[in-house]
Amino acid sequence: MKNPLEKVDLKNLSPSELVEFLGTFGKERYRSIQILRWFYQKGVESFDEMTNLSKRFRHELHQVSFISTLQPLHIEQAWDGTKKYLFRLEDGNRIESVLIPDKKRLTLCLSTQVGCALGCRFCLTGKMGLKRNLTTSEILNQILAVRKILLARESITNIVLMGMGEPLANYQNTLKAIELMHHPDAFKFSSRRITLSTVGLLPELERLAKEKISFRLAISLNATDEETRSQMMPINRLYPLKKILALCKIFLLHPRTRITFEYVMVAGINDSSLDAKRLLRLLRGIPSKVNLIPLNEAPGIPFKKPLEEKVKQFQEILMEGGLTAIVRMSKGREISAACGQLQGKSSDGRAQIWGQNQNIDF
Ligand code: SF4
Repeated sequence: MKNPLEKVDLKNLSPSELVEFLGTFGKERYRSIQILRWFYQKGVESFDEMTNLSKRFRHELHQVSFISTLQPLHIEQAWDGTKKYLFRLEDGNRIESVLIPDKKRLTLCLSTQVGCALGCRFCLTGKMGLKRNLTTSEILNQILAVRKILLARESITNIVLMGMGEPLANYQNTLKAIELMHHPDAFKFSSRRITLSTVGLLPELERLAKEKISFRLAISLNATDEETRSQMMPINRLYPLKKILALCKIFLLHPRTRITFEYVMVAGINDSSLDAKRLLRLLRGIPSKVNLIPLNEAPGIPFKKPLEEKVKQFQEILMEGGLTAIVRMSKGREISAACGQLQGKSSDGRAQIWGQNQNIDF
């Protein structure tokens, strides 16, 4: 984001853009490596802390650029250790991130937009519409802000992009952020530990299939026939299930060898044994696993959660058919951190709004 002085937010630059930017000062390529390490490995928030850069160079940087940061306004913790962080952006908008502990993993779920234009009917973020895309720095600063206040023995092991917003609708900023998450001089997350979850925007998926960047892909499927999916997710009218699944096969040419399909289970809508059998047929030939996510009921959501027996039966059918199917119980329910449909309540009336299935670990 540009500040009033039109200085450059350096965390909005990809590694190659940073090299180019520094080149305008006549600085060598290795300077960009130093800066990346200061930002993303050491977490510095001021140029003065970058002690291997000369004072003069730091002053030059200060004249033309700045280092953006995020501080949480509010943190809530659930009994199971899940934590939700509320951030206020420079323009007053608010976003949330959720930190989910699970055995040896500590997964951070990030937002990529303020609100969302896609209006999935099981999601409260969809109800607020799209306010704006997050910048690359706003996506990355969620990681830095949470990491800064972790306990010494804790470290974030996995990143999932499935908070507020549809990541592929903010394509460029999201991909640039992923590049920095993975870059050896920035966050250094393995590509297997970064998961992007999408409803399946076809043009962006096609574009993604041609990118060199690698990470895990999760598709929010949620239904086994076009009519039901359109009922739950209006975007299905534009990008139907059949075409999304056909495209998934293209991704198999890439190192992303197994796609995760998310399936939010809703009572009486998509939880029958017929649906389970149809899902098996649909995913035949696509190496994949399925995360079954029983709906979290919330005010304003016109659906009910499925019975436990139904979920179990659904899972058994998938597993008997040879699919890996895992039931993901929501974490952090009492802090509205589960399952993404949540727009909560807070004592001071702040909106607490959330994207999709952040109870999932990958
Ligand atoms: S589930 Fe995701 S894509 Fe759908 S409305 Fe919510 S945030 Fe947007």
